[in-house]
Amino acid sequence: MKPLKSYNPSTGDVVGEVPVTSLDDIPGIVERSRAAQPAWNALGHDGRARLLTEAAASFRTRADDLGRLITQEMGKPLAEGIGEAKSLASVQHELQEIGEALAPETFDDGRHHSTVHHDPLGVCAAITPWNFPMAMPAWMVLPALAAGNTVILKPSEETPLSGQAYADVLNEKLPRDVLITVQGADDQGKRLVDSDVDLIAFTGSRETGKHILRAASGGLKRVILELGGKDPMIVLEGADLEKAAQFAAVNSFRNAGQVCVSTERIFVPEVIADRFEALLVEATASMTQGDGLDEGVKVGPMVNARQRSHVLTQLEAAVSEGAKVLAGGSGHHDNFITPTVLTGVTEEMSIATEETFGPVACVTRVESVDEAIQKANATHFGLGAVVFGEDGEETTRVARQLTAGMIGINQAVEGARGTPWVGARQSGFGFHKSKDGHRQFTQTRVLTKPV
Ligand code: ADP
Repeated sequence: MKPLKSYNPSTGDVVGEVPVTSLDDIPGIVERSRAAQPAWNALGHDGRARLLTEAAASFRTRADDLGRLITQEMGKPLAEGIGEAKSLASVQHELQEIGEALAPETFDDGRHHSTVHHDPLGVCAAITPWNFPMAMPAWMVLPALAAGNTVILKPSEETPLSGQAYADVLNEKLPRDVLITVQGADDQGKRLVDSDVDLIAFTGSRETGKHILRAASGGLKRVILELGGKDPMIVLEGADLEKAAQFAAVNSFRNAGQVCVSTERIFVPEVIADRFEALLVEATASMTQGDGLDEGVKVGPMVNARQRSHVLTQLEAAVSEGAKVLAGGSGHHDNFITPTVLTGVTEEMSIATEETFGPVACVTRVESVDEAIQKANATHFGLGAVVFGEDGEETTRVARQLTAGMIGINQAVEGARGTPWVGARQSGFGFHKSKDGHRQFTQTRVLTKPV
């Protein structure tokens, strides 16, 4: 079988290659993983946590090289690649949280004495995307392993080297077969889903998520899905407009818009719209674009030509249907799309309804707060949402009416430590992080004795 080549989206150069896993080998890989699970589980939480902590420390010492690999494979600015790699070293808090979430609990009602255990499921498959090619694997692999499962990781075919490097770092300390990688594309993912795994944790597109849910239903396998978003931002009249515009630019263009909680739609009352748009255009001017390895670059390329053409198709359709370009909109060369600000975006445009995943900030002017809320909620998605307004009840009132899973008030959506990462509606199925998230990697068992 031909190896899987990885290309640098900024230059088109080959970064490296990995052998593709033969489909016929996947059942045997699952058997090996299953055979390794009891001994891994027998180490207990503390034993597993100690090994995972020791292994993760290497992400700090090797962050420069690993970050460079991330940037070469998918284009993000080097500082962000290094930041991603470095963040994977800090596992202690999460491991502690997992230990607490999975500790047995006792219940006594005077007649029965029960203990609730959270046991590992067995073998977990983790199928991951390319936009955070080490962090997304970590979000699934770490809690799955810490809970006593073994894991088979299939990284995205766009970033096989980063996925492999992530697993290789952990495997320097982990016992054999506790974490195995499968390399390839859709076919390997499908075969893994159909194989004898107990849980499938997936982050990726909504369409693939639906496929996985259908495929998993035959054996009623456990499934955790984190899918796309169409995140709205509402700017209220009392908002700090400079702060709001700065946030809108950063959150629309970060990672070239290839983030599941990117700001994809911005709703602004007519009375403040001129000022907000002017500030957004100003903030956009500082979004230097280029090869992520170059100094000062804030926005890299699209991951591949398919993603670029998807974004350009939406952009061109929106302009031909009446949206006005306030910044960017042209000069899209090679794999790049110039950070673009549109206004006059309406609900009928595909750019307002389908996930874009590109560096386009879309402004819609509204007559009232109620119109903003109604339009923000007019989507099948429901991952994140953001409201900028005065600190006070009105802003919170608006935030509480948004149908997303995570809502940021005057900030991004990420919550305090211990809170879940959760999508509503078609943005997800289950949780990441938090007690709720950690317990998904386990089978709950209740043991009851008479008192
Ligand atoms: P994107 O189009 O953004 O790459 P996908 O949802 O297609 O997102 O891919 C995310 C991950 O899912 C990748 O690792 C990919 O190989 C894998 N994948 C794609 N299709 C399937 C499928 N039908 N079953 C299982 N995994 C799949």
